[in-house]
Amino acid sequence: MPSIFDPTEQNKNIESKIIAGLERISRVFKFLLWDIAKNENLSPIQIQFLIFLLYNKPSRTYTTDIANEFNLTKATVSDAIASLEEKNLVEKHQDINDKRRYLLKLTPKGKKIAKQLSTWADVLKDNLKNFNQRDKEIILEFILKLIESFYEAGIITAQRMCFSCLYFQKNAYPNSNAPHHCNLLNKPLSIIELRLDCEDYTPIQAD
Ligand code: SF4
Repeated sequence: MPSIFDPTEQNKNIESKIIAGLERISRVFKFLLWDIAKNENLSPIQIQFLIFLLYNKPSRTYTTDIANEFNLTKATVSDAIASLEEKNLVEKHQDINDKRRYLLKLTPKGKKIAKQLSTWADVLKDNLKNFNQRDKEIILEFILKLIESFYEAGIITAQRMCFSCLYFQKNAYPNSNAPHHCNLLNKPLSIIELRLDCEDYTPIQAD
């Protein structure tokens, strides 16, 4: 099969061109993260952990949660967390209900740095302001449908997204502008209302 990275193939195949375009965008994310990482003496993944800990409830700050979120092994997460502890950015607190588990918490220094670093992708958001609302809705709809198709094909996990949530009713109203339904919020959901990261997400099968 011809490679999507072969320009000749890209020029005659729209699917190859879309995937190559997405791959090129992913390089921008990597570049921006590496750029701030080298200034802070942190690795890109350590920065992502700090921002994760900044914006998630304490009940979701176990090593397992981070491993699931970033598709990493617990050992890899533990190594990165040990380094963040050494830098006095993260501390571990024994879970009072299960002494074998530890909650991860940002130190005051870690919180301050995480807040500063959490703006790393703002340059991309600012750029989106140049597009009109309809274009943004079309691209969001496409991205959500793409994620859903990758999830259904077993290519990615869809944690904290509607597609894999207990409360999600797909195509409850097939001919409507808001075809899906959330049984928790008790409301129909249009494509652009589907959530990428929902606080109320409940997996269909509990871990
Ligand atoms: S609870 Fe959140 S993730 Fe679940 S269906 Fe409703 S909006 Fe989507």
